[in-house]
Amino acid sequence: MTEQLHGIILDQINAGVLVINSDMEIDYWNRFLQIHSGRGNDDVVGKSLFDVFPELPKPSLRRKLQGVFLLGTPTFSSWEQRHHLFEMPHSRPITTASQHMAQNCSFLPLKDEMGTVTQVCIIIEDATDVCFYQGELNTTMSKLEKSSRTDGLTQISNRRYWEERLSIEFSRVVRHGGHLSLIMFDLDKFKSINDVYGHQAGDHVLVETAKQLTDALRTTDLAGRYGGEEFGIVLPDTSLDQAMVVAERIRTRIADKEFTFEEQVLPVTISLGVTQFDLSQKNHEKMIAQADSALYKAKEGGRNRSVKFEVE
Ligand code: GH3
Ligand code: MG
Ligand code: MG
Repeated sequence: MTEQLHGIILDQINAGVLVINSDMEIDYWNRFLQIHSGRGNDDVVGKSLFDVFPELPKPSLRRKLQGVFLLGTPTFSSWEQRHHLFEMPHSRPITTASQHMAQNCSFLPLKDEMGTVTQVCIIIEDATDVCFYQGELNTTMSKLEKSSRTDGLTQISNRRYWEERLSIEFSRVVRHGGHLSLIMFDLDKFKSINDVYGHQAGDHVLVETAKQLTDALRTTDLAGRYGGEEFGIVLPDTSLDQAMVVAERIRTRIADKEFTFEEQVLPVTISLGVTQFDLSQKNHEKMIAQADSALYKAKEGGRNRSVKFEVE
């Protein structure tokens, strides 16, 4: 009666159950495996596990199984370490990266009355759903993480993330020495662009300006939108003189570019303030303040120019 009940349960259970002996031959497998692998009883029972399932990672799985036989302790293989052991199609109504069923496999020792392990029972659970939703979750998390760092309009770093990066670079030069420079710049007479051509034209200029930065900078430089129409550029491993060259390159690039909106040419220039790290600065905010004060001088000096910070 009990045996009959076991048989019914093993055939109904929504998991693969496979029993092998110490010669690595299959003594038993249940209906779940017959259905999912598309193989009949005669092709499987009494045959070598590795002949029936040639896709199995033979050396590592053999070692694992031998461990269970020898030590008598169960072991486990998760889909997170290895997507699947037994190659079977999944039967989920979802599109996944893999055609195959993701699996969690448990390896359980079956012992005789003397306590000797005579067989190992392998339980194969379909983890396709978990694997799929974990993948979706990872994608969503990385999108979210990216959007929390990005300015919605210009798609470059937002102020919070940009300042965080500047402060990290600041701590790095304090500890390890080397150069660090900072450029702050602001669009010239931007209020009048909004007033004359409209707010949308102003937005367009901000987006295009950010694009110019992305094209003009090294991948290690980090541009961010600091405020409405003010941007910052962190330049690691860059001296003040090198930063001035970068500042002038960006200034001329913007001044030479023809910004158009609804077939109207917009007058766009920028003013830049440049400073570099030195030990008298207590924190990264001091660097921003110095670059800002140089930027103010650039505005005072007539705009469309780069000015380096100098102690007065
Ligand atoms: P200056 O050369 O001295 O910098 O003059 P300015 O007109 O650029 O300076 P001001 O600070 O007076 O004006 C900045 C303007 O930028 C005012 C504000 O409406 C506009 N602004 C700030 N953020 C945005 C934005 O996201 N989109 C648009 N279209 N305009 C913005
Ligand atoms: Mg301005
Ligand atoms: Mg401004």
